Amino acid sequence: MKTVYMDNAATTALNKDVLSAMLPYFTEIYGNPSSLHTPGQEAHKAVANARQQVGRALNAADPEREIIFTGCGTESDNMVLLGIAERYQKKGKHIITTAVEHHAVLYTCQRLEKKGFEVTYLPVDEYGRVTAKQVEEAIRPDTILVSVMFGNNEVGTIMPIAEIGRICREKGVFFHTDAVQAVGHVHIDVQAMNIDMLSLSAHKFHGPKGVGALYVRKGIVIPALLTGGAQEHNKRAGTENVPGVVGLGKAIEMACNSIDETSARMTKLRDKLIKRIPELIPEVKLNGHPTERLPGNVNFSIKYIEGESILLMLDLNGIAASSGSACTSGSLDPSHVLLAMGLPHEVAHGSLRLTLGDDTTEEDVDYVLDVLPRIVERLRNMSPLWNR
Ligand SMILES: *Cc1c(COP(=O)(O)O)cnc(C)c1O
Repeated sequence: MKTVYMDNAATTALNKDVLSAMLPYFTEIYGNPSSLHTPGQEAHKAVANARQQVGRALNAADPEREIIFTGCGTESDNMVLLGIAERYQKKGKHIITTAVEHHAVLYTCQRLEKKGFEVTYLPVDEYGRVTAKQVEEAIRPDTILVSVMFGNNEVGTIMPIAEIGRICREKGVFFHTDAVQAVGHVHIDVQAMNIDMLSLSAHKFHGPKGVGALYVRKGIVIPALLTGGAQEHNKRAGTENVPGVVGLGKAIEMACNSIDETSARMTKLRDKLIKRIPELIPEVKLNGHPTERLPGNVNFSIKYIEGESILLMLDLNGIAASSGSACTSGSLDPSHVLLAMGLPHEVAHGSLRLTLGDDTTEEDVDYVLDVLPRIVERLRNMSPLWNR
């Protein structure tokens, strides 16, 4: 049986050219970038080159100083929140974020609340969006950080990042965006968008798992989360994951070089699913913004059945999908994102997320459109809630 992978928001397949770029750094070029000998310096050069690749992808002014490699997107988010809180608490202890952030941001904010920080969780509209005006109105003299995600991992909604960036710059408040879902899929320019800090993760754009990066605009001081050696300009101790960093650099370069073609193709496939699913299946509701949306994200509430049972049946048919986020599946709590968007509990429970990758084909989409309506019909026929 074929496998149709529609869970690219959870993770993506490693691109083969990215793998080829990484391989020599496992075997031949294995030096420690901190070592002064030739093998060490070759590894050092590879890390420096990857930093330039990331900088170019984001249009950073000074990649050498502004890009820090981390262990994952989660680490980048933690480093920003905990670091800014530690370093700038004399200015104030107020942080602004949104109710629909990834748990890497939300749970770290909760940790800060326990330490005496005050966090404003901006509510979202029915599409999962906040406005720049909401951010503006929430900013206080003691606000030290605004953290708003670029694109939502569950419902795909894209936030008005450039507008929020402009407000934060005007008000002199640091602006961080968790762009883990957006990098490689949507054009990002940290200078034009007034982004001060940005988190990204390689495995969300066909790079390797276990490596991320953090952009920090020159002039902003973030204390190290990990202390020890002087790696990453003293900002992140620990011997560099050289093959991973090389893979991240190659993957971000490839994704950004073909971003227009790829996102146009993915958007077309996404919109085919968004148009056809309600035509083929009654009583479904699209979650997330209809147009301000990540190119690969489709999220529907399928009323009167549980998301988990759809997932199991899809899996039996070779389709890998998700209900809400991978981190919350396995628990019975409905998604905090869908609840924040105002969905009732029972509707939030029946959500199905299909996320496309660079490698998704029209054939994959047609297969889903063939299988899904039959699964839903079978499940609904067994459901006491479904009464036709
Ligand atoms: C996946 C994801 C993260 C976490 O990234 P990891 O590299 O898996 O730690 C953070 N934020 C968002 C929006 C994500 O989609």
